[in-house]
Amino acid sequence: MTKELMTCARCPFERAERYCQNEDGQTPSFCPTQNRPEILQKALEKLDDPKTREFAIQAAIQEKEGYQLDNGVPVPVKPRLLEIIEFAGKMKYQRLGLAFCSGLFEEGKAIGKILTDKGFTVISAACKAGKVAKEELGLRSDQKVRPDNFEPMCNPIFQAMILNDGKSEFNIVLGLCVGHDSLLFKHAEAPCTVLAAKDRLLGHNPLAAVYNLDSYYGYLKK
Ligand code: SF4
Repeated sequence: MTKELMTCARCPFERAERYCQNEDGQTPSFCPTQNRPEILQKALEKLDDPKTREFAIQAAIQEKEGYQLDNGVPVPVKPRLLEIIEFAGKMKYQRLGLAFCSGLFEEGKAIGKILTDKGFTVISAACKAGKVAKEELGLRSDQKVRPDNFEPMCNPIFQAMILNDGKSEFNIVLGLCVGHDSLLFKHAEAPCTVLAAKDRLLGHNPLAAVYNLDSYYGYLKK
């Protein structure tokens, strides 16, 4: 018999009625909270490692400090960039890595300066660093953005290695392409957080397509 796949994304219950958020909540048959206690136990055992526990504690405190209560209602009060700076401070990190897209060079510069002004040492690498032609990947000219021109490949493994070489303690990822970001996450030694996910069309706000699924982006559902 095949195991039923766990899929929170199909949970039919409103927040207040969900099992994972309410002691008397309800569960669908594909609920991981109810059906995978052995995996939950293993996940909790990961927190026995003091470094992992400290990271999780500070992340939870940062989450709490992202709100102020207004008559008991949590109101968001901080942009993500400030949360990253505060979290890095809580963790006592001094060396931060910044892996950014060359298409966001001005933003990368601005963020690098903000972090440096806050007292961090910043190691940064743009995605085109390394200056390796896309032909090295075996790409044909027509598979380049601008065929018949020199086009350096995005080089996220090199970016990760530069940050590793600079002994970064925490990496900030800015606007890397789909897949290139995955390679960076895989090869970076320090934990990574994403400041912004690239969306060329939507001003790096990929959720705009999701918020408009019933109108302009309905074709994504077809
Ligand atoms: S853990 Fe269970 S109750 Fe919570 S969202 Fe997932 S399926 Fe729903």
